[in-house]
Amino acid sequence: MKQANALLAGTGTTIFTIMSALAARHGAINLGQGFPDTEGPQDIVRAAADALLDNRNQYPPLTGLPVLKEAVADANRRFYGLNIDPASGVCVTSGATEAITACLMALLNPGDEVVLIEPLYDTYLPVVRMLGATARLVRLEPPGWTLPRAALAAAFGPKTKLLLLNSPMNPTGKVFTPEELGFIAGLLAQHDAYAVCDEVYEHLVFSGARHIPLMTLPGMAERCLRIGSAGKTFSLTGWKVGYVSGPPDLVALVAKAHQNLTFTTAPNLQRAVALGLAKPDAYFATLASGLQAQRDVLDAGLRRLGFATLPAQGSYFITADFSPLRFNGDDMEFARAITEQAGVAAIPVSAFYAGPAAPNHYVRFAFCKRQAVLEAALQNLARWLAPAANSTELPG
Ligand code: PMP
Ligand code: GLN
Repeated sequence: MKQANALLAGTGTTIFTIMSALAARHGAINLGQGFPDTEGPQDIVRAAADALLDNRNQYPPLTGLPVLKEAVADANRRFYGLNIDPASGVCVTSGATEAITACLMALLNPGDEVVLIEPLYDTYLPVVRMLGATARLVRLEPPGWTLPRAALAAAFGPKTKLLLLNSPMNPTGKVFTPEELGFIAGLLAQHDAYAVCDEVYEHLVFSGARHIPLMTLPGMAERCLRIGSAGKTFSLTGWKVGYVSGPPDLVALVAKAHQNLTFTTAPNLQRAVALGLAKPDAYFATLASGLQAQRDVLDAGLRRLGFATLPAQGSYFITADFSPLRFNGDDMEFARAITEQAGVAAIPVSAFYAGPAAPNHYVRFAFCKRQAVLEAALQNLARWLAPAANSTELPG
């Protein structure tokens, strides 16, 4: 038999699926894969259910229902003062995952270079490679995760077509600062490059940090494709409704990619998401403050247990250094051990690296869970750690 696609044959199953399966097998509390354990707003869910029953279940328009595209444009204006044309500047996709692929398809030719920032979300690199482009990796270093400006500048060159920017960032919880965004904007202008902005956690920002879309910076509106996700904004991760906003000439190409990927996205979900995006500001503020409280519970608990947690200003995730616990093994071994032995699943942070010598003493915990669940997870970890308190090493 001839060899099938070599790139996909060489791509492993995503770490989120691996750890969720392991958590299920061991009955562990799943703080690995990022999904809330409570339902999203009932009025949105009800609107989706009603929309299924009113006989409008055939193909919606290719780029999305006008009602949702208008809601996306309105939200861009309300939250960021962005001026997006609802008809030509928005494309609805089946999740941000599809949006990322569609944006990369829209912009890349084989041989182009793409600047990616490590640690990086797991779909970016395989898609860049499948499109025949070359990745230039720039690494943020813990614990500060600050942008290494010289390294970023050095990654840009004549072949650079785009930068993929994830802010608020998974897994670090970093929200890029105005100064960092300004530096990035300068490089994009200097090298005549685009940015694909993965902003799925745009409304999940805490501790006084503010999410600023790169697109709002001077000269950037023409260069940026901005991606949002209803899954994250409405705590309905299984819905897979995403939206791309940008200049009409680029969005038209995103739509061509979408046409060849999924063509459309479930119409009932689109109508319900339109309702969600029109919710008052209080909804979005409460979403963030609720998550901040959950983060604080997990952060304080992990610190009490001896982990060195890193600051998380956004997203669902907190990164914890387990080296103070004197565990005998790397992050994959630690994540497996706590899943199997303590009954708490986490994600090894080295899974977010493609380059050599990734840090291997951090795990990512998701805090988008009910407080009682977070407390139960902390108790499980405390029980597992207790016997080690008097010895020098944890079982590896
Ligand atoms: N980007 C990042 C950084 C993510 O963490 C996720 C997680 N779901 C996605 C994209 C995908 O979003 P969606 O579920 O809407 O496809
Ligand atoms: N974005 C989610 C996370 O980082 C996972 C999504 C997925 O499982 N593909 O946990």
